[in-house]
Amino acid sequence: MFLKRFFPTYIFESVQTIPYETLEKEGIKAIIFDMDNTLVDYKYEYVDEIKVWLAEMNKKGIKFCILSNTPRKSKAKLIAEDLGMKYIVNASKPWSKGFKKAIDILRINKDHVAIVGDQIFTDIWGGNRFGIKTILVKPVNKREIIVTRVRRPLERYVLRKYYENSENGLKIENNEEGEN
Ligand SMILES: [Mg+2]
Repeated sequence: MFLKRFFPTYIFESVQTIPYETLEKEGIKAIIFDMDNTLVDYKYEYVDEIKVWLAEMNKKGIKFCILSNTPRKSKAKLIAEDLGMKYIVNASKPWSKGFKKAIDILRINKDHVAIVGDQIFTDIWGGNRFGIKTILVKPVNKREIIVTRVRRPLERYVLRKYYENSENGLKIENNEEGEN
C-alpha cells in the first residue's frame, strides 16, 4: 500500500513518554532525534522531563544524536551540547544521506536504530526509506513555519489511514490521535 511508507512504527505523545520497554522490545540501542518541535519548541527550549528521560535512557545504554534539516548550526550546537549528544544539520530528510551520517556517528548497525520526530514527510518517511524503526511524537508547539503548516492536513490524512489499518498488524502503543 502506497501510504504505508508514511506510517510510523510507533506513535507517542512526546519524547519523554516513550517507554524503555518499547525500545528494548525492538532492540533499539540508539535514537536519532529530529530537533525542532520534537526536542525543542520554537524558542529552542525544552521541558525538564526530556533531560530526565534522556538520562534514564542513557543509563540503559541508549545513544543519541540530532538529525535536523535546519541550517541553523549554532542553535543546533547549543541544544546538542546541552542535551549531551552529537548533531547533524542541513540533513535533507527524508533523503538518506543524513541518516547514514548519523549511524556512522553513533557507530551502530541500522537494525538497532530508531528515529523520533514530529513530521511524517521528513522524519518518518525518511526513517522508513532508510530502513530503521520510526517513532512519531506530537509536535511540541503549534507555532510552526508556513511550509510545515501546509503539510499538516496531509499528515492528518496519513494518520487517519494509519489508524484505519491498525488491525492489520501495525503496532500502535498510543492511539490517541488528537488535533495538532
Ligand atoms: Mg520537527
